[in-house]
Amino acid sequence: MKKYNYRFKLLSAFVLCFFSSITIYAQRNPGASTRQDANNMVGGLHKMDVPILCYHNIRDWRSGDTKSEKVYIVPVALFKAEMKMLHDSGYHTILPDQLIAYMTKGEKLPSKPVMLTFDDADASQYTNALPELNKYGFKGVFFIMTVVLGRPNYMDRKQVAELAAKGHIIGCHTWDHHMVTKYTESDWVKQIEKPWNDLKKITNMPVKYFAYPFGLWNTNAVEHIKKYGFTAAFQLAKKTDKTNPLFTVRRIIADGNATAPRLIREMKADF
Ligand SMILES: [Zn+2]
Repeated sequence: MKKYNYRFKLLSAFVLCFFSSITIYAQRNPGASTRQDANNMVGGLHKMDVPILCYHNIRDWRSGDTKSEKVYIVPVALFKAEMKMLHDSGYHTILPDQLIAYMTKGEKLPSKPVMLTFDDADASQYTNALPELNKYGFKGVFFIMTVVLGRPNYMDRKQVAELAAKGHIIGCHTWDHHMVTKYTESDWVKQIEKPWNDLKKITNMPVKYFAYPFGLWNTNAVEHIKKYGFTAAFQLAKKTDKTNPLFTVRRIIADGNATAPRLIREMKADF
């Protein structure tokens, strides 16, 4: 009986100690007390679970468009249906600053957050996508390759400036879309430094975000992008790099062959 008592006391002391340490931990770390939160961290940051869509051309298919090109060409009616479905399903567009504040500091996001990104500066993004964004008060992120600005079928500098002035975000997408994994030292100046400065002049704002052409990156490129002072960089659907989560933010292509419900299903499955 004595032995039982001793064990019982020891067990009670242990249980008491365990629960009081949990209470102290929870008081010191509000919001960090549940197991679910711990699972939601990657490399010291909040897990990137916001769906990010990547668009290129928003226009109707032409007879010469190949099957593989159609992945990147979203017909206008489909884009309209997708924006309407996002809006009607209660999604809110967020911008990269909000995403970074969420990932680094756990700051709150609106309910059902989604990020809409547009690569390459195609004119159809301005003429066909922008009116749909405006309809729902959505904001987008436009990753510009500067070599095309002012060329036929691409945006011009004035349109890029207007997007920035209206609260959309302008990001850098190199000078002429060469993949960053193959750069020599002089390429970094030509492909990143000069276009980056150019975009800062066009928008009269800091340019904090970068998108890798073709979504391709390697560790050397990540180090260069960091060194230039970008806040984050966006890839496509490869796994986030655990040591560089802010510089390998995942996106999925909004496929031109999709339907609006299929897009929503893919967003839920991928993030
Ligand atoms: Zn691109």
